[in-house]
Formats: sequence, structure tokens, C-alpha cells
Amino acid sequence: MTKVGVVGYGTIGKRVADAVVAQRDMDLVGVAKTSPNFEAQAAIANGYDLYAAVPERRERFDEAGMPVAGDLDALVAAADAIVDATPSGIGAQNRETYEKHDTPAIYQGGEDADVADTSFNARANYEDAEGADHVRVVSCNTTGLSRLLAPLREEYGVEKSRVTLVRRGGDPGQSSRGPINDILPDPVSLPSHHGPDVKTIFPDSSIDTLGLKVPSTLMHMHSVNVTLEEATDPEAVTQLLAEESRLFLVPEDTGIDGTGKLKEFALDAGRSRGDIWENCIWAESVAVRGRDLYLFQAIHQESDVVPENVDAIRAVTETAGKAESIATTDETLGMGLGRQFER
Ligand code: NAD
Repeated sequence: MTKVGVVGYGTIGKRVADAVVAQRDMDLVGVAKTSPNFEAQAAIANGYDLYAAVPERRERFDEAGMPVAGDLDALVAAADAIVDATPSGIGAQNRETYEKHDTPAIYQGGEDADVADTSFNARANYEDAEGADHVRVVSCNTTGLSRLLAPLREEYGVEKSRVTLVRRGGDPGQSSRGPINDILPDPVSLPSHHGPDVKTIFPDSSIDTLGLKVPSTLMHMHSVNVTLEEATDPEAVTQLLAEESRLFLVPEDTGIDGTGKLKEFALDAGRSRGDIWENCIWAESVAVRGRDLYLFQAIHQESDVVPENVDAIRAVTETAGKAESIATTDETLGMGLGRQFER
């Protein structure tokens, strides 16, 4: 059993902790938190051991009547691998603690790429992370783009990608984020950081990305144009994408016309927190003009990186190869929203 510690128990960390618990080959040692807030209470209710991320703040947990199993050092020492899901920049600060204990660490997309030996997307470059000490799971948007581009590159070759990312203003709990009533080019000049981030996964790719922020908390939406090296047709592309376990082709005639209904669908399907680990590609949007492919895909920012973190744990600990890890993660989590439509 691989013993896993999760440092930072917020939007990403709590989902990764639950996903680790769902794995047959992993044990969750515990989760490190800075403050005894409602999420700490939820961790205790789930039976997860709490560790104090900042030793000086440990007494706050005592005052709140929350038992603490130890400090960050103790968690890292007890773990075979750490998933660091702290806010951007904190992972880089924690790196020396992971190094001190010789515990491999997985960071998130908010960290700079140079925090790690390699950036990671399970479908695209699992092998690069095998046995690595420091691995960075790329951001939600880059994860979504990498999953889409990997099969297209393999099947047709990709000459150039142009993607406009319509990004949610903040997560549902981020009450200080915006815009509330605006549409912001963000950044106003080319490129947004997503294109360069995709190049940490596919260094030889040619990609331009533009970003916007809108008053939504639900999901991101990508308007994608990929110039392929070979001409094809929409049916062939749809078939190719449908074979990918982490791509969900939103069927026609379902009434799912946007991110609101996608989230509703996920909740109806019994997904915890309404999470959608899969890219959601509208089947009707897949269009081909010569070698140009067009489509819309929605990305659930709070959860699409969760299965990637689980796979990254197996990669750094070398406990399973790519195909086995992806299959196990998919099965244990219940990947495949499209199954809801199979009759
Ligand atoms: P979050 O703010 O929801 O959660 C971070 C948690 O870490 C909070 O509970 C915070 O209290 C805690 N924390 C702060 N300092 C800490 C420390 N020193 N030690 C331990 N815990 C500490 O943030 P998030 O949205 O989960 O983002 C975490 C990382 O994941 C970031 O790199 C982010 O860019 C990345 N990411 C976020 C999203 C998203 O949409 N939320 C998607 C993909 C990747």
C-alpha cells in the first residue's frame, strides 16, 4: 500500500484526499491544514488525521477542540508520497521539507513549472514522471487541453492549435473573486499563460491561447481550433475522442446546452460535489473544414486534475505503469459520464 499525505486541504486537496481513499493500493496518512476551519471539521468527520501545516498555529486546533496527529514534518516522514495542494507559491516553499525526508512530491498547476522535474498529464507523458522526486500536475485548463491534443497528435499530427479560454471568475467558495458584471480579456495581450503551459507537456507544439474571465463559478469553456496535419471528417474525430476515457462527448438531444446543465447532470448522476473529472466536448460542436478542427469543451476546474494527481502518485512511486494506473483510477472513481446515456 502506498502511504499518501495531502498538504493543503482546500478545493483540490479535499478532492484528492477522497480520491486517494477510494484507491485499493493507497492509504491516506492524513491531511495538513493551516487553520481549524469548516474544511478541517469535514476532514475529521471523514476520519482523516489532521496535521498542523504551520507548527506555530497548532494550538489553534487545540483551542478549537480538534485533535492533531502531528506537524507537517511528521506527515511527510510517514508518507511514501505527498500531494501538495496549497495555494500558488506555497508548494515551492514546502519543497525543502519534502527533500529533507526524501519523499516524492506532487505539486499543482499554480506552481511555476520549474518547481518540479517534470510537468504531468497522465494521458500525455506519464512515463516522464516515473520515479521522479518532484512532479507538477498541470492546471485544470492545461490538463483539459493536453487530454484533447494527445490523441489528435497521435492520430493526425497537429500543425497548430488556437484556443480561446472563457474562464470562470472564481470557484464557488471564492467570494472575493470576480468579475461580477463584466467580460474581461485576461490577459489582454497574447498569449495567455495556458499556451506556454501546454508546451511543458508537448514542448514541440505550436499553440496560441487567448483568455477571458466571465461572471461564472461553474466551469471553464474552451473554443478550440486545431489545424491537423491530415484532413479528416467529424465522424472520425468524434470516434477517436469517444475512445478516450477522460473525454465525455456530450450527446446531441440531451438538452445539455451549457455548463449549468452539465453541473446539474453531474449532480443527478450522483457525482460527489457535482464533480466532472472528464473534459466535456459537445458532440454537435465537432466540425472539420479541410484540416481545421473546431469544437467546444467545458472543463470543471475544481476536479479534472484529481485523477491526474492519483496517477502521478503511482508514477512517482513506480507502483503501476501508465495503462494500469489510468484504468485503476478510472474504475475506482467511476469515470465515464457518457455511460449514463448507454441503453
Ligand atoms: P484553495 O485555496 O482552495 O486551497 C488551498 C488550501 O491550502 C487552503 O485550505 C489553505 O488554507 C491551505 N494552505 C495555505 N497555506 C498552507 C500551507 N502553508 N500549508 C498547508 N496548507 C496551506 O486552493 P486550490 O484551489 O485548492 O488550489 C491549490 C492549487 O491547485 C493551486 O496551485 C492552484 O493553482 C491549483 N489548481 C486549482 C484549481 C481550481 O480551480 N481551484 C484547479 C487546478 C489547479
